[in-house]
Amino acid sequence: MSFFRFNVDGMAGYQPGEQPRGLTGVLKLNTNENPYPASPRVFEAVRQTTPDALRKYPDPMATVFRERAATLLGVPSDWILAGNGSDDLLTIAVRSFVSPDDLVVAPTPSYTLYRSLAQIQDAQYREIPFTAEWGLPDAFADPSARLAFLPNPNSPSGTVIEPSRVRALARRLRCPLVVDEAYVDFAAQDCVSLVRELKNVIVTRSLSKSYSLAGIRFGYAVAWPEVIRGMIKVKDSYNCDAVSIAAATAAIDDQTHFRENIRRVCATRARLGEALRGLGFHVPDSQANFVWCSDGPAPPRRLYEQLKERDILVRYMNYPGHGEGLRISVGSDAEIDRLLSELRELIR
Ligand code: PMP
Repeated sequence: MSFFRFNVDGMAGYQPGEQPRGLTGVLKLNTNENPYPASPRVFEAVRQTTPDALRKYPDPMATVFRERAATLLGVPSDWILAGNGSDDLLTIAVRSFVSPDDLVVAPTPSYTLYRSLAQIQDAQYREIPFTAEWGLPDAFADPSARLAFLPNPNSPSGTVIEPSRVRALARRLRCPLVVDEAYVDFAAQDCVSLVRELKNVIVTRSLSKSYSLAGIRFGYAVAWPEVIRGMIKVKDSYNCDAVSIAAATAAIDDQTHFRENIRRVCATRARLGEALRGLGFHVPDSQANFVWCSDGPAPPRRLYEQLKERDILVRYMNYPGHGEGLRISVGSDAEIDRLLSELRELIR
C-alpha cells in the first residue's frame, strides 16, 4: 500500500545531473555551472553575516535584492519576485496557475523539470516538438493551455526563439507564458521588454550560471505587479534565506565582474563549438553556457561513458523522437582543452 497520491506514485521524478561528492580531479561539464568564481563582493557579503541575521527570519520579499534588480532592469521593484533558484519560481508558477487536469505545454527537447512539475500538480502535459532548426510551430500556442513554458535560450540546444516570435506566440496564448531565461545572460537578446507589453508574459532568471552562484540558490521573476502579487500568495513565506539574499545582491551589484565572466565564457563557447564541428558533430549555434552536439562520429552514449571513465562528466540526453546527444557545459579554456584532447583520442 502506498500513502502517496496516485500521480506521485506514477511519476519518475526529475533527474538532476550527477554531483559527485569528494572526488578530486573530476571535470564537471554536466550541469552548466560557471567555471569562474563569483565576484569577490559576494564572499565579502557572506563573511559579513552577523549572528543576528541568522537568528532572525529573513526579509520575506528580499527587498534589497528586488530594488537593485529593478534598477538594473529598468522596472519598478513590484515587478520583481525573488526565488530560491529559478526552479522555485517555476514551481510557484505551476502552483499559481494550474489545477489538476489543466493543460501545461512546453517544447521538446527542453528542460525536463516542467514535466515533473506538471505531474506533481496532476495536470496534463503536452510537449510540442521543436522544428529541425529549433524553431517553434504555432501549435505551441495551444489556446486550451493554462500555462506555457518556453526556455529561452533552450536547454539542451542553446538556441533561442527571437523576441518577435515569442511575442506572437504569447499573443495567441490565453494563459501565462513563462519565458525561462536561466541562460539569457549568455545570449544577445532577452524578453524583458515583452513583459512590459504583455500581461501574460513572465520572465524567470537565475543567478546559478551567469553569476556563478548555483550553490546558493537564487533566481527572480519579472512580471506585471498584479501577477507578482498573486504569486506572492503561493510562495513559501521565507523562500530566500538571509545569506543568499546578501550574496545575490552583492553579485548583481558587481556588473563589471559579471560582464567579464560572460565575455570569457562566450569566447570559450565559440572555440568549443568550432572544435566539435571540426570533429564531425552537429552543433547548433549556442547562446547559452553549453553546447549540444549530436550526429557525431561515435555513439553519444558510448562517448559519455568513456569520458566518465576518464573523469570527465558531460550530460548524455536521449529525447524519444528527437534523437540523442551530449550537452557539454562551457568550462575554462584549460578544461575545454582537456575535454577536446580526450574526445580526439576516443573518436580517432
Ligand atoms: N531553467 C533551465 C532551462 C535550467 O536548465 C535550469 C538549471 N537546471 C533552471 C531553470 C534552474 O536553475 P536554478 O534553479 O539553479 O536557478
